[in-house]
Amino acid sequence: MSVRVRFAPSPTGYVHIGSLRTALYNYLYAKKNNGKYILRIEDTDQTRFVEGAIEGMLSSMGWAGINHDEGIVMAEDGQLLEKGDFGPYVQSERLPIYKEYIEKLIKSGNAYYCFCTKERIDKIREDQKAAGLLSKYDGFCKSLSEEEITRRKEAGEPYVVRLKLPNNYDIAFNDVVRGNVVINTEDMDDQVLLKSDGFPTYHFAVVVDDYLMGITHVIRGEEWLISTPKHVYLYEAFGWNPPQYVHLPNILNADKKKLSKRQGDVAVEDFVKKGYLPEALVNYIALIGWSPEDNQEIFSMNELEEKFSLERVSRSGGVFDINKLNWVNSHY
Ligand code: GLU
Repeated sequence: MSVRVRFAPSPTGYVHIGSLRTALYNYLYAKKNNGKYILRIEDTDQTRFVEGAIEGMLSSMGWAGINHDEGIVMAEDGQLLEKGDFGPYVQSERLPIYKEYIEKLIKSGNAYYCFCTKERIDKIREDQKAAGLLSKYDGFCKSLSEEEITRRKEAGEPYVVRLKLPNNYDIAFNDVVRGNVVINTEDMDDQVLLKSDGFPTYHFAVVVDDYLMGITHVIRGEEWLISTPKHVYLYEAFGWNPPQYVHLPNILNADKKKLSKRQGDVAVEDFVKKGYLPEALVNYIALIGWSPEDNQEIFSMNELEEKFSLERVSRSGGVFDINKLNWVNSHY
């Protein structure tokens, strides 16, 4: 099976160098294996959409030389090219697809309509918190009758659709970096899959799209590891095979905390403005969390494509060190 990977940014602001590294590892893995690297814009959370973020992301990726095989592209004058040849992978344009798949899940008994108000949900969570319990939906709407669902929908009551998890069921998957992971559904919530605004949640859209786009390897930041059991269960519910998961450790600052804007430059555009060479930033970023078999430190993109392997991605977070970046930049 040929390798298909994707970079799936949400247009919520600037491109963090952690995202650049995620895109880069996906790109390198595709190149090394003669596969395809797909770009997909995950904009289903309309409240977090930032004007200009898609254009900014495309221009940062173009600068870094990480060009996708499918998805939208930007022309040199900064205009978005007509979609078509590149496949318009923008989630907000795929709502009918998610609707079709949500209906399949409801029909197969793996999802249910939930009409609970925000006040009710907040109250449940508060009570659970006070009792020291895991905060999760109490399943109140799990057993509504067909008639009641139809009546409430016709009355225009807002609703969401939730995943129906079985009780006390182990969900297991393998991660290239983390090894085997098992989690029991007692420790999980009936995740909202379709929101009351008609948009899917990230969790639902990511599974449907990764499946429909034939993604073989999901390479993404470790903050998503905790969500992966929900995704794996969705694959099971649909009867699909899950992709191979690869969760990358965080990029850290000198204090071993997650690198954030407060400690200095973290946006790709900051490095562009300061005149860093794209090859140098790409070279340095590749080495935070991955190590080559020898001690080589300066790589061209072609060499990275040849030498990159998922097996040599480290388990622990790599530290971003501006002095090392400067050293690489001056040796180019
Ligand atoms: N849209 C998610 C993000 O911006 C991507 C998560 C994933 O790769 O599945 O981080």
